[in-house]
Amino acid sequence: MKVDAERLGHEIDELATISAARPPAVTRVVFTEEDLRARAWLKQRCADAGMAVRVDAVGNTFFRWEGSRPDLPAVATGSHIDAIPNAGRFDGVVGVLGGLEAIRSLREGGFQPERSIELIQFTAEEPTRFGVGCVGSRLLAGVLNADADEKLRGGDGETLRAVRTKAGFDGDLATVRLPYGYYAAFVESHIEQGPILEREGIPIGIVTNIVGPSSFFITIDGEGGHAGGVLMPDRHDALCAAAELIVRIEGTARQSGSTDTVATVGICEVHPGAINSIPSRVKLGVDLRDTDGKRRDRVLNEIRNATEEIAQQRQLQTSIQVLNADEPATSSPQVLAAIARSCLEEGLESRRIVARAYHDSSFMVHVAPMAMIFIPCRGGVSHRPDEHATMEHIVAGVKVLARTLAELSSAH
Ligand SMILES: [Zn+2]
Repeated sequence: MKVDAERLGHEIDELATISAARPPAVTRVVFTEEDLRARAWLKQRCADAGMAVRVDAVGNTFFRWEGSRPDLPAVATGSHIDAIPNAGRFDGVVGVLGGLEAIRSLREGGFQPERSIELIQFTAEEPTRFGVGCVGSRLLAGVLNADADEKLRGGDGETLRAVRTKAGFDGDLATVRLPYGYYAAFVESHIEQGPILEREGIPIGIVTNIVGPSSFFITIDGEGGHAGGVLMPDRHDALCAAAELIVRIEGTARQSGSTDTVATVGICEVHPGAINSIPSRVKLGVDLRDTDGKRRDRVLNEIRNATEEIAQQRQLQTSIQVLNADEPATSSPQVLAAIARSCLEEGLESRRIVARAYHDSSFMVHVAPMAMIFIPCRGGVSHRPDEHATMEHIVAGVKVLARTLAELSSAH
């Protein structure tokens, strides 16, 4: 496989300059002026590569290289180009520009696909604007439906409908959804955003599972009072209950039977937050993830039970507000095998790996047999200006992706 590393490197650098933050930081929030400029820039690149373009109502953009059997479902690759505030230049971009380079490499190498090959640029993978991530791929999968148009609001209170219309993307949101089997296969390449590949010196990770994240708030209402006046037997201290609960949450995750279960209490808001006042109310923000949806839900139930138990013992009120509970995704054996064969053919070492962040693939699993290709990133660092992947690794990923797309585009 021959890949034009110089062209690709130049494009990654150029896209990074379309940013609301100063280099090396990249900020490109969906439907802002920078996002629209980046979209136009990408469209031009894909047009130059001879690809046809289709844009759906939410701005998901599909670039198509027509195969000799356009009647058959296409194969697709892609990722996102939006970036959280003060991010780096590789998250998502490696999958979009790497996907484009893979397609150009195949084309310039004289390859003729039977199935068409599409590159997808998904809208709003990052949750920055609407509070929920993967908006485009959720809509494609039917995990979000058309009422998201009014329900999802930006920080300024504007609805998704208003924001997307202003950005030039209109039409009925219900038309975004694609049925399962619309694509014969979907492969997303991405930086690992974790330390494993770099630590083990392995250039390619083959993603077998994507975790299912759940996040929720637990509110504990106790009884406040003067830190001197209320004696210990009379107290219903919300923070003491929260402290007990945090340790129980850690314990349930540790004892789930798998190291793939992770639970984090990342928010602890104490009211009224005065040194001489008994905490009357505590709000905990909890993130719980697992590769196994049933196990995740079992742990979630154990956390519910622990919350009730502690509330009863300490005589205070609790409530749980679930923000999201997305399903884990399992990669397709057929797509995994195609990636593994591509690694062998390129003489690249690979290992199987679990994806522990959200990706558009988490939802594309409802549209097509799916798998992901990971490449190492320095120190496992992501969502920071110093996020870095070497050209050597990026090119290796493109080669594997190109071979994988070539194999999957065969009509058989
Ligand atoms: Zn990403």
